[in-house]
Amino acid sequence: MPPFPQAARTALADPQLRANLRHATHTIRDKRAAVVAEVDEWEALRRKGAGIKDDMLAHLDEHLVRLEEQLTARGAVVHWARDAAEACAIVAQVARDHRADEVVKVKSMATAEIGLNEALAQEGIAAWETDLAELIVQLGDDLPSHILVPAIHRNRAEIRRIFLDRMAAAGRPAPADLTDEPRELAAAARLHLREKFLRATVAVSGANFAVAETGTLVVVESEGNGRMCLTLPEVLVSVVGIEKVLPTTADLDTFLRLLPRSSTGERMNPYTSMWTGVTPGDGPQEVHVVLLDNGRTDVLADEVGRQALRCIRCSACLNVCPVYERTGGHAYGSVYPGPIGAILTPMLKGVGHDEQVDSLPYASSLCGRCYEVCPVMIDIPEVLVHLRSQVVDAHRDTVGGGGLGWRPPTPLDLAMRGAALVLGDGRRMAWAARGTALAGRVLGATRGRLGGGARGRALPGGRGALGRVPGGGGWTDARDLPAPPTDTFRAWWTRTHGGRDEATTTRTAQEERR
Ligand code: SF4
Repeated sequence: MPPFPQAARTALADPQLRANLRHATHTIRDKRAAVVAEVDEWEALRRKGAGIKDDMLAHLDEHLVRLEEQLTARGAVVHWARDAAEACAIVAQVARDHRADEVVKVKSMATAEIGLNEALAQEGIAAWETDLAELIVQLGDDLPSHILVPAIHRNRAEIRRIFLDRMAAAGRPAPADLTDEPRELAAAARLHLREKFLRATVAVSGANFAVAETGTLVVVESEGNGRMCLTLPEVLVSVVGIEKVLPTTADLDTFLRLLPRSSTGERMNPYTSMWTGVTPGDGPQEVHVVLLDNGRTDVLADEVGRQALRCIRCSACLNVCPVYERTGGHAYGSVYPGPIGAILTPMLKGVGHDEQVDSLPYASSLCGRCYEVCPVMIDIPEVLVHLRSQVVDAHRDTVGGGGLGWRPPTPLDLAMRGAALVLGDGRRMAWAARGTALAGRVLGATRGRLGGGARGRALPGGRGALGRVPGGGGWTDARDLPAPPTDTFRAWWTRTHGGRDEATTTRTAQEERR
């Protein structure tokens, strides 16, 4: 994938994509705002959710051991996976043990993160997505662009075309007279998937939560297709990120209130499935749980960044993000798009090795809306700034230092070096101030005769605005850069205060009042 600015340019040039995204994100954000406003103690609930997650992360090792004990005691087989390759190999082995050449899947970010479908395909095992939006993405040979609504970038007409063109190759074909009515599209998907549910012997899921106290896994969803996967096949494999642990069943209360209102804008999830190991004669008779690290312990070691592990994947931050709304999820080039993706992906993968990953912490205006809506109070802007400093450090003096190695300084690097040189010395600072004042006087005298060089309009306060500045990059294309002042601060201070210091000025003002 290209770095974010390049990928975003492609997305911005697609008016259909922008219209689809705008419609969808505004609909969900309005629903969320309405149901959140119904809860008087919403802020207290957010703080409670963040607190539970932070306590859990502080004792993650103990909770994981307890979870393993409980799962094992209830008949599940627990596997530990350090990375994506280990996790995929475990799932493939379970499928092979049961001679399964296909598995049905519950929508799961963790399995997308490890590239499970592609890994199983290499082993000759077909993995069928059963969530409607994931099915659309899979049939369209596409990539998810939203955590909750992976096909958010598609409209009804596009979905109809995908169903007509691609369903037959994957199983039951779509009816030839299919229209783009949502009811007909859903019916076509239901019939297509029903065949797969009834045939599959192995299912793969993730989990929204894993309760250490009892060994219970929890999946919340809207369609019920997930529940079909969790109950019909004989074998169930759940790939669970280690940060999904909750200490007790009572903690679920908080998160099952925070999650639906933040994600789909509903008061409750239509389907909340819970299972604890194996129940003889009921549901899958062989249950495997793969506890996945894949970079999470590195995130945990980062004192600023570890708050990202609180994330419950509600996607509220995506729906309010002005950058996501215009670029969509594909521009982020990772399974986790939007504000949470811009921090989680670089932390899971590490910075300094990949230009695309290093571009993500800059994919934000730092407006802070994501922080305002996050149900577990992740300060995404704080982590973005933290990661930007890591990216800069990773590229500092890296001649022969591994990673991406040395790269030529960017205009921003040069500007920052120049600023450090000037701001670090009082005399240089004074000379620079005089130079800026001179430039301000020259520009003030020539304003109106510079054509495109000076826009000639005034900013609030009467100060002039400059036009496009050479070397200013895209910044000055869309922003009014204030013209330099015609006075240095010292000259202004001397002129307006007669050279008196602040104490004298304050004393005089007090005397005048008396
Ligand atoms: S960062 Fe917060 S708002 Fe964004 S998906 Fe995670 S929990 Fe939801």
